[in-house]
Order: sequence, then structure tokens, then C-alpha cells
Amino acid sequence: MKEIVLIKLGEIALKGLNRYAFEDALKKNIKSALYGAGYFKVSIAQSTIFVTPQSDVDMDEVCDRISRIFGIVSFCRACVCEKTMESIFGNAPSYLEDALSTASTFKVEAKRSDKKFPLKSPEICREVGGLLLEKYPHLTVDVHNPDVKVVVEVRDFGAYIHAGNLKGAGGIPVGTGGNAAILISGGIDSPVAAYMMAKRGVKLTAIHFASPPYTSERAEDKVERLLRKVCRFAGPITMLTVPFTKIQETIKDQCPEELFTIIMRRMMMKISSLIAEKYECAALITGESLGQVASQTIHAIACTDDAADMPVFRPLIGMDKEEIIQISRKIDTFDISIEPFEDCCTVFTPKHPRTRPVLKFVRYAEEDAHLYDLIEDAVENVKITELR
Ligand code: ATP
Ligand code: MG
Repeated sequence: MKEIVLIKLGEIALKGLNRYAFEDALKKNIKSALYGAGYFKVSIAQSTIFVTPQSDVDMDEVCDRISRIFGIVSFCRACVCEKTMESIFGNAPSYLEDALSTASTFKVEAKRSDKKFPLKSPEICREVGGLLLEKYPHLTVDVHNPDVKVVVEVRDFGAYIHAGNLKGAGGIPVGTGGNAAILISGGIDSPVAAYMMAKRGVKLTAIHFASPPYTSERAEDKVERLLRKVCRFAGPITMLTVPFTKIQETIKDQCPEELFTIIMRRMMMKISSLIAEKYECAALITGESLGQVASQTIHAIACTDDAADMPVFRPLIGMDKEEIIQISRKIDTFDISIEPFEDCCTVFTPKHPRTRPVLKFVRYAEEDAHLYDLIEDAVENVKITELR
């Protein structure tokens, strides 16, 4: 028995002239997501993408990967039949045997987009329903709330039997929303922010600031593992690790203590803007949430923004920690995020950080400390790691 995955296109179908670009991006993302899982033909017809295995594959694994690709509203795993009632009759009872033998009720739905097929939809339902009642006498028909749905789709190039659509990841295909750089820490928030922007079609590059020996190699490894989880949704990610020790030490030695954090965050923004431009990213992304900590008050964020040379997206800005945690569990980053490794943000934290920093004084402090002279060195010594 031959199986296939039918992918129903979502918001993409609405994108008018851009539609073809979106469909192409989605096809490319599907091929990339299935890399290493076997050989597949990926084709489009009738607002549906057909993923047809060309080799032996593990269909559970294939569907699991497809469930995380953005731009897919729903999909189903189906049995491929010839466009004859004999073939549909031959496959329907056995293909859904497991579900049908344990269910009490079922219903048959037919969709006939090939209007030349000799039976109309209600007739297909009646015939297939009759056959299933004969093979599984314990079943009864329930058209409103069946335990099992048996769907027969008669399309241009074949007929397909499946048990209904599964929910896809939603969103729009990664790569169609431009490129942006996610500032990633080892915490709970930034991987969630990365996921949310990838869902809106953004291709991600990741920037991580490390301050060895204050932060350890294991902290960097943790960020890498978090990003690999994000890759399952966002596709391959280039991770850029910025050496930040010298800058943090200079801030500690030369700047007023209550401004340590805000100045550090401004330096992150300046350096990230330069790196982002080099890697053709048009925006920065952070996991900040209003009022979460002293550096995330409106005043502090205004001060931080001033140092960035491009738009800064903060998809979590209005979310509670609980809501963020819920998503981090869903994308399977939570357990890694709570591993106890230090981040550069927790190195030299002031006892009383300023929650209402005044931009003018922050800038003076930065100039006095000659911090800008250290930026070039940090940008040039970035370590590159390719993740997928
Ligand atoms: P959590 O709040 O769960 O500890 P977080 O990632 O939000 O995790 P914060 O200290 O709140 O950590 O930092 C706010 C934002 O600043 C992060 O979401 C992230 O975008 C950025 N950031 C913090 N530390 C780093 C770092 N070492 N490298 C790159 N970006 C960082
Ligand atoms: Mg945070």
C-alpha cells in the first residue's frame, strides 16, 4: 500500500501575485525539513502540496517533521488508490483497520474534485459506508460526532483515503518574511521569541554574547542545543558567538554601577546591528517583555533602542512569563532553558540598577569609558557555527 502526505495551503492561498513565491519557499522548506528522512517528490496541484515518498520512509517521522513547518494549516497522511471504485474498495477497509476495529461509530466523507468520476460524492459515501459496515459489523454510522472519519478524495491524478486533516504549524513559510538576527541567551524567553518570528516567515541568524571565563563553554553549548530545537521549526540557523569579556570588564571598571546593565544592553545592540548588517539581516529580535526586569521598563527599552541601527522586534513584549513558558514547553526548549548555567547578563549585575536611565548620561558614561573603540574587535572575532 502506497502512502502520501497531502498538505493543504493556508494563508498562502491569499497572497495574490506573491503566491508563487510563497509556494516555492514552502516546497523548498519541506524538502529541507525532510532532509535525511528518505527521498521524496514534492509537487503542487489544486491548492495542495503532494509529498510522495520515492524510497522506504518512516511515515510517522515524516508527519512529525511536516507538523513543524510554517505555512501549513493542515495536512493528512493518506493511502494512494487508483481512480476506480475497485481500488477504493480494496484499500479503505484495510488502510484504516486499526482505527475502525477499535471505534464504535464512523462516518464517510467524499470530496470529488474530478467531476468526471462516475460516482457523485453522496454515492461514494454510501458505497464505501456500506462496505465498511459489512466488514466491521460492530460499527454504526454517526454523521455528527463519529469516532473515526473516513475521507475519500477523488482528485485529478488519483484517489486518496485518509482519516481527516491534522493541524499544521500555521504561520507563513520561513524565508518569505526577510532575514533578522535573534539575540539569543540561554534563558526561557529568547528561544520563544525566535520561534514566534520564524512563524511569521522570518529567516533567522542567531547572535550570542559570551564572556569567558565568567561564562562557561557549557553555557554556549546550552545555547546551541536551544537553537537546534528552534531549527526544527525555523530551518538551518547560523549562530554567531561574540566575545564580550573585554567590553563587560571595561563597563565594570569604567562606568557607574547603576548603569552597568543598560550600557551592556546598548553595547549588545550596537554590535548586533553591525553583525546583522554584515549577514544581510534587516532587523533585530529580542525576548524582552515589558516590566520583566529593570532593563525592560519603558525607559530602559527606549535607551536600549537608541543604540540599535535597525528595527528591534520584541514579540514577547506584552506576554506574561506563564504564557511564554507555555510556548517554551510546546517547542520543547523549556527543560534546556532551566539548566543552571550563567549568562553574560548575570555577570557583574548591579545591586540597584537604574529603572529610569537618562539617555544623555548613559551616552556620556559610554564615551568616557571609550567603549566604542572595542566594538570592531568584537565584531571581527565572532565565532561562526552552522546549525540545522
Ligand atoms: P530569561 O528572561 O528567561 O532569563 P532571557 O533570554 O529573556 O531569558 P534576559 O536577561 O531577560 O534573558 O535578556 C533579555 C533579552 O536580551 C533576551 O531575551 C535576549 O534577546 C537578549 N540577551 C540576553 N542575554 C544575551 C546573550 N548572552 N546573548 C545575546 N542576547 C542576549
Ligand atoms: Mg527575559
